[in-house]
Amino acid sequence: MPDTILAVVEQREGKLNRVSWETITAGQAIATATGWPLEAAVVGGGSSIAAEVATKKVAKVYAIESPKLEPYTPDAFAAALKQFLTSKQPKLVLMPHTYQVRDFVPKLATAMGRTVISDCIGFKYEGGKLVFTRQMFQGKLAADVSFTSDAPWFVTFQNGAFRGDKAEAGSPPVEAVSLDIADGVIRNKPQEVFKEAKQAVDLTQAEIIVAVGRGIKEQKNIEIAKQLADALGGDLAASRPICDSGWLPMDRQIGSSGQTVAPKLYLALGISGAIQHIVGMKGSRAIIAVNKDSEAPIFEIADYAVVGNLFDIVPPLIEEVKKVKAGG
Ligand SMILES: Cc1cc2nc3c(=O)[nH]c(=O)nc-3n(C[C@H](O)[C@H](O)[C@H](O)COP(=O)(O)OP(=O)(O)OC[C@H]3O[C@@H](n4cnc5c(N)ncnc54)[C@H](O)[C@@H]3O)c2cc1C
Repeated sequence: MPDTILAVVEQREGKLNRVSWETITAGQAIATATGWPLEAAVVGGGSSIAAEVATKKVAKVYAIESPKLEPYTPDAFAAALKQFLTSKQPKLVLMPHTYQVRDFVPKLATAMGRTVISDCIGFKYEGGKLVFTRQMFQGKLAADVSFTSDAPWFVTFQNGAFRGDKAEAGSPPVEAVSLDIADGVIRNKPQEVFKEAKQAVDLTQAEIIVAVGRGIKEQKNIEIAKQLADALGGDLAASRPICDSGWLPMDRQIGSSGQTVAPKLYLALGISGAIQHIVGMKGSRAIIAVNKDSEAPIFEIADYAVVGNLFDIVPPLIEEVKKVKAGG
């Protein structure tokens, strides 16, 4: 059988998780590098999700169906995918690193006697070898990992590792695949789904974001970042330690465990640029970073690097912005 890639998109309660587009983009990039065709699969959720996925450039979309797939259970999803993958035998199976995937993919891989390279941030295809990059030691190191086992190879990608809006469009056929999941397979009895508190601030829609990091030193200093955000007509955001300290609410946090944003302008004040932060904002169109350390990793992705003390730089910047806005 020829080598193929299968992107398993995520649906829950009939709704497509938008992070699925990132998995499709990742699949398209790997398909381009390897020459292996990319297909997609939706587990449960009805035909409308498959139709939505069929707006992207993949060779085919499989709609895997069984009445036992609703509501979501890890037992049913693992059983359905095991059946499907055993018959299709793709080389590589890609999924987003969501809570739902984390719930069932270890069970699925173990049931098939395979392993998962999880939470990857990228891939390389060198000399005919496919290598995945994942972080170790809280993002301090990046390791290149490859499979030595037989296919299917399971890979999950970190939220924000690929740009969902870059998924190429197409119009592939959809094939419905009806599966039988035997009685007794499902041992889970789902309770009501935990819903996170509604986010008060939707930074994903912001055009200008001023984000503060630990370089701001004290909670009371956040005021100068707020003044800059106000002067620019933007929103205030932060790195995780700022929110962990309670200096700003959690819904202002940008990064892998916060919001993923793509404003026109992202101003990072005193943020080092840890990968968990970068994944949440690297899609910004213009990034200005102010940091007193010229070696700060944030400068690797910044369009404008301002090396200096933010307490010297921000106050005159606020005055200049105000002047320009006032037409002076
Ligand atoms: C599982 C996991 C999930 C995580 N999720 C997130 C997440 O969603 N979002 C997130 O942000 N982090 C997240 N983190 C934490 C992340 O790894 C970093 O620890 C964090 O992003 C660092 O925040 P920081 O840049 O504000 O602080 P630091 O890394 O301490 O950087 C502070 C920076 O400020 C600079 N600085 C100091 N004083 C000044 C000054 N006066 N003027 C200018 N610059 C100055 C310093 O040079 C330094 O570069 C996560 C970590 C883990 C393990």
